[in-house]
Amino acid sequence: MGHRPGRDDRISTHCGLVARAFGADGIIYTFDDPKMREKLLDVVERFGGPFEVVMGADWRSVIKDWVRRGGEVIHLTMYGVPLPEIIDEIRRSKRDKLVVIGAEKVPGEVYRLATYNVSVTNQPHSEVAALAVFLDWLFEGREFYREFKGARLKIVPNPRGKTVINIRR
Ligand code: SAM
Repeated sequence: MGHRPGRDDRISTHCGLVARAFGADGIIYTFDDPKMREKLLDVVERFGGPFEVVMGADWRSVIKDWVRRGGEVIHLTMYGVPLPEIIDEIRRSKRDKLVVIGAEKVPGEVYRLATYNVSVTNQPHSEVAALAVFLDWLFEGREFYREFKGARLKIVPNPRGKTVINIRR
């Protein structure tokens, strides 16, 4: 939610990269930036997916529709319930999950609409870090072994250098 053009360009792009790498199915932005969408889809094209990028969404309708369709909303905020205290309940629930993060101050309504308000420590930090830690706890590290479909490039872990396989399609 939110984006200050120029100032937030890198961090908002990183939210998308982290969402994809750590196991989310897609990202919905509340602003529109065709260049950022192109950059993210270029990573999907090279390193695989599936990963959807939606831009220019209205946050209130996205959250309300998500809940109406039976999903749950996890708002990451330093004021929420500590992640270790709530993650088992969130993991047990098989409902589709929408994770909400903000670029700047998030309206109070989001706290009321969210199914869970979850903190990743009660200290102020970053939406990128909060998203990465939340997804890692949700997937319990399985994101390390996720296979991405349709990848053109695949990295083979190498303790000393770079090994990249170019898959011809
Ligand atoms: N002052 C803003 C507020 O009150 O929401 C902080 C914005 S912070 C720079 C950007 C986003 O990072 C927040 O909207 C939240 O999603 C996330 N965030 C920052 N610290 C967090 C924490 N300790 N736990 C969970 N999320 C956090």
